[in-house]
Amino acid sequence: MPEFRALLHGYDRFRSGRYEAERRRWASLATGQAPPVMIIGCCDSRVDPATIFDTEPGQAFILRNVANLVPTYEQGGGLHGVSAALEFAVTKLNVRHIVVMGHGACGGISAALGGHGDPDRTFIDRWIALLDPALERVRASGAEDPQRALELEGIRTSLDNLRSFPFVAEREGAGTLKLYGCYFAIADGRLWELDEQAGTFREIAEGAAAS
Ligand SMILES: [Zn+2]
Repeated sequence: MPEFRALLHGYDRFRSGRYEAERRRWASLATGQAPPVMIIGCCDSRVDPATIFDTEPGQAFILRNVANLVPTYEQGGGLHGVSAALEFAVTKLNVRHIVVMGHGACGGISAALGGHGDPDRTFIDRWIALLDPALERVRASGAEDPQRALELEGIRTSLDNLRSFPFVAEREGAGTLKLYGCYFAIADGRLWELDEQAGTFREIAEGAAAS
């Protein structure tokens, strides 16, 4: 099992490296967490938010699923894993920021573009049907690059759906919660941020955080 052994090697590095260096931080985290930020990203192995944002333990409450989607608010039926995590982050942890991060070359987005009906992916088909309205908009727009257009439209959809949750809308209205849309372009390692007023994404310049 060389793949699992590789994980154990990583654990050894963690114990002797980062854990050892931040032992005091870990001790304080043992009593609880108060992350100021929630990040909703894709499961894709290339887009780990903790790596891209270089976060510290306890800094970000991270939820990952296929194509970084948020369902609309609904109380009936089904097991609402995403909604449960969102409810916990907002109403119990009182996060002050929620970042939805989409990415380039997303397999979930490709699946949505490929249409439904593949018997081997029943769960994925039902999940990515959340993108149907976005898919219609992308098709109607005649976008040159429908993959990228749907990746971006999917982020807008998740932000819209976040606002269908009363506890999100209330806090955003009161100014105690801020929502962000980001897009990570894998090929060049660049991050883009959605300007919701303009409706467009702009690349975040390196060193922007310092200004
Ligand atoms: Zn993805």
